[in-house]
Amino acid sequence: MEIPYWNTGWLEVICGPMFSGKSEELMRRLRRAQIARKRVQVFKPAIDTRYSAEEIVSHSALRMPSLTVETTASILDQLDWRSQVVGIDEVNLLGDGLVEIVEKLADSGKQVILAGLDTDYLGRPFPPIPELLARAEYITKTLAVCMRCGAPAKHTQRLVADGELIVVGASGMYEARCRSCFEPRSPVQEQLDFGLPLRPPDEIS
Ligand code: ADP
Ligand code: MG
Ligand code: ZN
Repeated sequence: MEIPYWNTGWLEVICGPMFSGKSEELMRRLRRAQIARKRVQVFKPAIDTRYSAEEIVSHSALRMPSLTVETTASILDQLDWRSQVVGIDEVNLLGDGLVEIVEKLADSGKQVILAGLDTDYLGRPFPPIPELLARAEYITKTLAVCMRCGAPAKHTQRLVADGELIVVGASGMYEARCRSCFEPRSPVQEQLDFGLPLRPPDEIS
């Protein structure tokens, strides 16, 4: 059976390092959907309270109201099935199960727009973005500006010594770096720059 175009959903992924404009681009697309009078729902993970608990906020202070979710399952709990467009920011903070849920949303005819980090603080591919890229219809990679040299930056440099995969923070804790200025294993040196207490390198995994 032919599925009519107007009933077809799809996945859009916006990925890149911190400060590269992912949240700005997500909000730009969601605003256009609102202008087109589509039913739009926006979600973000509860753990991301950097600027606001109930809004997506960019580093340039653009903002948009959003629903807060603890886990991927609570996206389905809060979902209004009449929504035509579903946006989710910071998908790298939502954990397992997201891929299945967003596929279900797209299969059911919704435009699903996802934004998140594609690499972690060591430069490794950061789930679930790699799998989402393989499944998406549309992919956008945003780059930031390297804070050392001004080149296009694809890395998120952690400036504090912490071996946890997820440490929520913004400027002062992270900065954008290009591939030649990125130093994945040297937060101890950076602590000196920021006047933070120094920890021995063997505490940093
Ligand atoms: P992301 O969601 O990818 O972290 P945002 O959309 O929140 O990014 O913020 C992007 C904005 O951050 C830019 O428009 C710019 O105003 C600001 N900004 C701060 N540092 C940088 C940087 N190093 N490179 C590019 N933009 C930066
Ligand atoms: Mg963002
Ligand atoms: Zn650089």
